[in-house]
Amino acid sequence: MHNKTIKELSQLLQKKEVSAVQLATHFLDRIEKSDLNAFLHVDRALTLAEAADADARIAAGTATPLTGVPIAHKDIFVTKGWRSTAGSKMLANYVSPFDATVVAKFKAAGMVSLGKLNCDEFAMGSANENSAFGPVKNPWDHKAVPGGSSGGSAAAVAARLAPGVTGTDTGGSIRQPASFCGITGIKPTYGRVSRFGMIAFASSLDQGGPMAQTAEDCALLLSAMAGFDERDSTSLTPEQGGVEEDFSRDLDKPLTGLRIGVPKEYFGEGLAADVAGAVKAALDQYVKLGATLVDISLPNTKLSIPAYYMIAPAEASSNLSRFDGVRYGHRAEGYKDLQDMYKKTRAEGFGPEVQRRIMVGTYVLCHGYYDAYYLKAQRIRRLIQQDFETVLNGPNAVCDVIMGPVAPTVAWDLGSKSDPVANYLADIYTLSTSLAGLPGMSIPCGFGANNRPVGLQIIGNYFAEAKLLNVAHQYQLATEWHKQVPSGV
Ligand code: GLN
Repeated sequence: MHNKTIKELSQLLQKKEVSAVQLATHFLDRIEKSDLNAFLHVDRALTLAEAADADARIAAGTATPLTGVPIAHKDIFVTKGWRSTAGSKMLANYVSPFDATVVAKFKAAGMVSLGKLNCDEFAMGSANENSAFGPVKNPWDHKAVPGGSSGGSAAAVAARLAPGVTGTDTGGSIRQPASFCGITGIKPTYGRVSRFGMIAFASSLDQGGPMAQTAEDCALLLSAMAGFDERDSTSLTPEQGGVEEDFSRDLDKPLTGLRIGVPKEYFGEGLAADVAGAVKAALDQYVKLGATLVDISLPNTKLSIPAYYMIAPAEASSNLSRFDGVRYGHRAEGYKDLQDMYKKTRAEGFGPEVQRRIMVGTYVLCHGYYDAYYLKAQRIRRLIQQDFETVLNGPNAVCDVIMGPVAPTVAWDLGSKSDPVANYLADIYTLSTSLAGLPGMSIPCGFGANNRPVGLQIIGNYFAEAKLLNVAHQYQLATEWHKQVPSGV
């Protein structure tokens, strides 16, 4: 049952061959037995109550295709009734009085929540090793990281603890863990999915999206997730294109004539041979499916690392100022005065990486350094946007989508990359897409060293999610990588 896709589970539920309660129980039992540390909060009674409601809806004939299908949420999305920690000690006991828009939308569709998923603290990280609640193991190899920051999300789908999950991507946090765990994930165009109730990291970059076994399932989930939300000031309005869409509409289109841009900067120094091999084989497969490959250049790619690692911490330093021991979460004991309370609370509540980012962010925003760092980073961001526009947009566009690796290597060993900069460098292929606000996805395309999964990244123009999902789905019809499971699953 757990190896079935959302689409398959949906059909079984509609035909009443399985009930929502049976399904939820099956996944809850798997979660209970798992030792991956993927889940931070499970509550059988809450889940089973949602499942019973779903069964009632199916019986009454008011179900949607997602009614009764289980889902689990990255612990960045706030949830009424379930703890919402953002992977931080700061919010260890926080229970939100409301649901994030994404959570509410899935609830309205009748999906059944299995609980909350581990992640890097405030989504800062590339390996899930920055969680205050311990790292997550990669289901393919328990010695390996699952990727980050949506590491619990990716591990849960790979280990079939949930058929679909939510993730968030600020600089690669949906795509990279999807790649490391051999599953499918899509980061939509910035502004497509509401940020309301998504605990903020870097607001001009943060974007929620679905992760599942297949592109077809991601399309179903994204259709329920996306759309304008007046409670998120950067949500795309209907005039700006922020409309609800059926992202499954183009899945079956053939790829004949598709032009795939292959950026030379994504295949240069630093790319491991095993990853390069798997990605090139995927490109060959696309040629067989009728696509043509076009050599392109995204010349400012390498500047994405310094630009992102100034802009994201700058925004984080501002967003995280709300955690002061007064309004939310943890408060230190035994302080002398108000200043001392702030200091102790923040020193105890935030982990080392979050503290580092707050310090970097505060520094680059300082009067006197602002122009040299923050403003310059914003200019680079514009150049990176232009790189993409040149090849993807307008009458002189040379390609319809861009493809390359998601990360330079397969998942590394737990505990092996302690230098923060080494972690930052591993984000080289995902940061530009985020800085430009473009949609991007990762689909499984093979295995590298130690039999660890490799992901293919597919990047598209603004609003091109339906196209990306079509391109991914056609590949998944022709290949079996997405059907592979870790041993014992
Ligand atoms: N790895 C990047 C970082 O640490 C991206 C994280 C994310 O997308 N949330 O900031």
